[in-house]
Amino acid sequence: MNSVQELLKDLRFKYVEPNMPEVMEQARVHSLTYEAFLKRILSLEVEGRKRAAQDNRLKSARLPMRKTLEEFDFSFQSTLSERRIWELAELSFVTTHTNIVFLGPPGVGKTHLAIALAVKTLEAGYSVLFTTLTDLIEELDAALAQGSLKAKLRRYTTPCVLVIDEIGYTQLSAQQANRLFELVRDRYERGATILTSNTSFAEWGKLMNDEVLATALLDRLLHHAEVVTINGKSYRMKDRQAARTGKAGKAPATDSQETV
Ligand code: ADP
Ligand code: MG
Repeated sequence: MNSVQELLKDLRFKYVEPNMPEVMEQARVHSLTYEAFLKRILSLEVEGRKRAAQDNRLKSARLPMRKTLEEFDFSFQSTLSERRIWELAELSFVTTHTNIVFLGPPGVGKTHLAIALAVKTLEAGYSVLFTTLTDLIEELDAALAQGSLKAKLRRYTTPCVLVIDEIGYTQLSAQQANRLFELVRDRYERGATILTSNTSFAEWGKLMNDEVLATALLDRLLHHAEVVTINGKSYRMKDRQAARTGKAGKAPATDSQETV
């Protein structure tokens, strides 16, 4: 007959196994009922697995940093409706496959809000992938060269929420624009995409080198979408000015590590 430890190993109860001596000891000390004892063991394993899945989801989301809605100062951005953002954080956009587009100049918090919604999405147990448009295009180019474009596209189409940050900094070639279109088409009504851009939709044709393709892409993207336009001041400038006048809450050095 195998030992309890061996049986747990066979069952791959890896979160209970190392804790088993302590669990046994606690059961003896507190004279646990059979039911309570079994429940303790099973809960330990289930909780451990949930935590591991959460960690995995967080890792594979590739968030460039952690930002939360709780730390976003809505009073600084008066054109932004706080209520609307908190409604988005209730995540119905994830299940209805509704896209969210944050539009506005640099520093107004587009990336912050995109990451914060991604964090909420992850906490609710959904999968997320974060990328910038530049990285996305580079990865798709590399995949094409290696003959693995289909697999790579799948990587971007499968997450419940895909974040594409910084649309507007990269000018796309016709082929790159086509691949972006393919991705948007594949995600259409299947997954939610959060995009951030400093460029108005009218200029996406130039960006994609093709007005017709840009129109087709925007058609799908905006069919089910929430467009959040932020017309406020740059938070980075606030930090910099505050640093200069000695009222800094944050050192501007941390800011320079970030992308615009
Ligand atoms: P954008 O993507 O619009 O260029 P970011 O989201 O990168 O701007 O914001 C720049 C920096 O300022 C980030 O460190 C971000 O966390 C911070 N930030 C921007 N807006 C706010 C805000 N309203 N409250 C708190 N921090 C903010
Ligand atoms: Mg940004």
